[in-house]
Amino acid sequence: MKVTDYFENAKGQTLISFEVLPPLKGGSMKAIFDTLDPLMEFKPPFIDVTYHREDFVYKKMPSGYYEKIAIRKRPGTVGICAAIMHRYGVDAVPHLICGGFTKEETENALIDLNFLNINNVLALRGDAASFDGRFVPDPNGHEYALDLVKQIDGMNRGQYLDDNIKDGLKTEFCIGVAGYPEKHFEAPNLAADLAFTKAKVDAGANYIVTQMFFDNKYYFNFVDECRKAGINVPIVPGLKPLTKTHQLSSIPRHFYIDLPDDLVNALQKATTAKARQEIGVEWLIAQSKELKASGVPCLHYYTMGDADTIRQVAEAVF
Ligand code: FAD
Repeated sequence: MKVTDYFENAKGQTLISFEVLPPLKGGSMKAIFDTLDPLMEFKPPFIDVTYHREDFVYKKMPSGYYEKIAIRKRPGTVGICAAIMHRYGVDAVPHLICGGFTKEETENALIDLNFLNINNVLALRGDAASFDGRFVPDPNGHEYALDLVKQIDGMNRGQYLDDNIKDGLKTEFCIGVAGYPEKHFEAPNLAADLAFTKAKVDAGANYIVTQMFFDNKYYFNFVDECRKAGINVPIVPGLKPLTKTHQLSSIPRHFYIDLPDDLVNALQKATTAKARQEIGVEWLIAQSKELKASGVPCLHYYTMGDADTIRQVAEAVF
């Protein structure tokens, strides 16, 4: 079923969903199941699986020269989606990115998903490869998530890259895209970012999932601004627990977001890991309760393999 159908059928009730990362190469599905098994009692209608592009490393060869080698540290997104659907009977939402993909590879990936009866995707640009510094699309790929949305929407209308395909299968992908309550770090300002977000919706995106935030005022303001800009699709808040001291710098560094004073002060004053854990959980419970009370369609939790924390929050909120 489509993610947006779940929202419609819920008739104003807030749903819950989770996001998992593929294990590092060499790991097993057990890591995913260990995260999800304790969370399934909360009945998420869908679970997202992130996608991780290949990166390049330089390996010293016997000759003494260095060779540039492509490696994907977290492969397996599509297989994990199929395994999740098989084990739990819920929908899986693979993330699909522009980075490292030609349009042809994207088309083939979408065909695989269609054959697996996976009818939801989160369409993203992806981040820059670590050695690039800025996002560089494949020469035959997409520069922005907007172009990926257009390709998926085209397949939903039976359009394939090969013009000779005249009567192609019309896929039925429900398309999610990313939104940034504190703006995407490359956008000149929130208004410009919103204009690009609107373009993704106008091109066929059916719903938005937000970047994490720790102060709900950013989400509420983002929704207001989206509505004023004519973006009328469901906007799902993305939420993550902050329970460790190192996250006070790593989260702003990686995600370009602000942390509220009260949360920062409380975590800095806490003297034990247990106290920090409790503060982070209480904060996320309070955030979640306020968002739920405001009638958001779904609370989407980035699990990061930490089932215990997410479970404590879900128990308090649902
Ligand atoms: P876009 O919508 O393409 O926007 C990128 C930037 O370009 C923005 O600054 C935007 O304002 C600007 N822009 C957009 N269109 C234009 C245009 N036509 N002209 C000029 N500027 C433009 N990354 C992964 O690699 N794998 C994942 O699984 C993953 N999952 C994510 C899930 C969520 C919910 C979120 C919020 C992010 C996720 N990301 C993931 C990270 C995401 O790929 C990065 O934030 C990336 O830098 C931007 O992706 P986007 O889809 O928002 O890009």
